[in-house]
Amino acid sequence: MEAPKLEGVIGLEIHVQITSLKTKLFCNCSADYRSAPPNTHVCPVCLGLPGALPVVNQEAIEKAIQVCLALNGKVASKVRFDRKHYFYPDLPKNYQITQYLEPICVDGWVELETGNGIKRVRIRRINLEEDPGRIVYPGGSPANSPYVLIDYNRSGIALLEIVTEPDMTTPEEAYLFLEKLRSILEHLGVCDCGLEGAMRVDANVSIRGGERVEVKNIGSLSEVRRALAYELTRQRDFVLKGLKVKRETRHWDPVRKVTLPARIKETEEDYRYMPDPNLPPIPVGSELVEKLRQALPELPDARMKRLAKQYSIPLNVARVLVTRKVLADFFEDAARMYTRDYKRMANYLVNDLLNWLKDEDLRGLYRKVLPEHLAKVMELLDKGVISIRQAKEMAEYIAKQGKDPEALIKELGYERITDKSLLKRIVEEVFHENPKAVRDALENPKAVNFLVGMVMRKTRGRADPAITRRLIEEKLQHLRTKNK
Ligand code: ZN
Ligand code: MN
Repeated sequence: MEAPKLEGVIGLEIHVQITSLKTKLFCNCSADYRSAPPNTHVCPVCLGLPGALPVVNQEAIEKAIQVCLALNGKVASKVRFDRKHYFYPDLPKNYQITQYLEPICVDGWVELETGNGIKRVRIRRINLEEDPGRIVYPGGSPANSPYVLIDYNRSGIALLEIVTEPDMTTPEEAYLFLEKLRSILEHLGVCDCGLEGAMRVDANVSIRGGERVEVKNIGSLSEVRRALAYELTRQRDFVLKGLKVKRETRHWDPVRKVTLPARIKETEEDYRYMPDPNLPPIPVGSELVEKLRQALPELPDARMKRLAKQYSIPLNVARVLVTRKVLADFFEDAARMYTRDYKRMANYLVNDLLNWLKDEDLRGLYRKVLPEHLAKVMELLDKGVISIRQAKEMAEYIAKQGKDPEALIKELGYERITDKSLLKRIVEEVFHENPKAVRDALENPKAVNFLVGMVMRKTRGRADPAITRRLIEEKLQHLRTKNK
């Protein structure tokens, strides 16, 4: 088949923090850099002071191996570290400890369900490395800041650098890949990817046959589609005008929604890679790899199939549920409390509740919104206390405010009106206002429905339909005997 004209070529490079670790990659400093005051979780090792010796965090190696296995990669026989030299204020040693000559993992792959069927994206390599410090711009951006601040609490946090082959052709595919990768990492317990800065994406973008452009600084998954779409369009325009795309590094500007040329970058040779003499190679035994393979948890693809089967829900609904571990957990917890109609419950979660939770990156689940809230909505529907329309309306209040569905019924005025004297008064009104309908109903039993409907309208659907009907029948019967 002939390749489509001006096809996009996208490869991704993702930096993922191993957020499950208590300490940094080469020292015992706390890895919690988000809530600590700046420059309090530091020591001679992560500040790069002369003579300080790094010691590898064994748990970081094990997590990296599990990620490798989950991504179908080959685990290296040794863990080796190299120095990557460059000068930047966030890097106090003037070199970053990373893996260059022999990454911990090579040749993996991930399968995506695209609109055109299954697509395999190859993973070229995964390496373990340290995060540099964090540069803080007091003015919010480099352009608005006369000076910068540096927080070395982040210096030395364990990172996985995951590099794909350029196997994606559209921003959509890149997004699907990242969504899948995020879910795998969440299921492995490696990364709480919802945390700010825990998953950072760079992309190599080109039009097939042309020079490639590195797009950096794509802050979030939702920005990926936008940034890649912009860059591909920019390059296509160049090609269509007969111009050459320049090989360069560009930054995504999330405010202006454009990519802009970045500072001139070092080339590979400039980094002067060399094995780190302070870190001798550590052999990786096959027993360890086997042990870690056995300990792998259920991963998203397997979980999707199990959810669909165990709860008899459509595969595409199960697929949405496993896009985030927390979402699938939430569903399964609710399914322990409510068992009558899993399909309706999954649909309500995915279509109604999720609709109001998106912006918060699902942080609301378990904090505000509880599985029992979801189960309760289903029970209220079963008992006929609320209608489907009312359940849909309630979703916003449950998702945004964590309101208990039973309390919401009162608050939103969804309570059934069962008070007979009140209903009688409303029936009187309806009879009074609709003399023709009453005459029809006296002749034709089917016309009674209209009167019931009028009572419903007056009570905004809250009148108990059975009691209402009985009261109307009684009143009609009364009129019939009177007219005789
Ligand atoms: Zn330290
Ligand atoms: Mn890196």
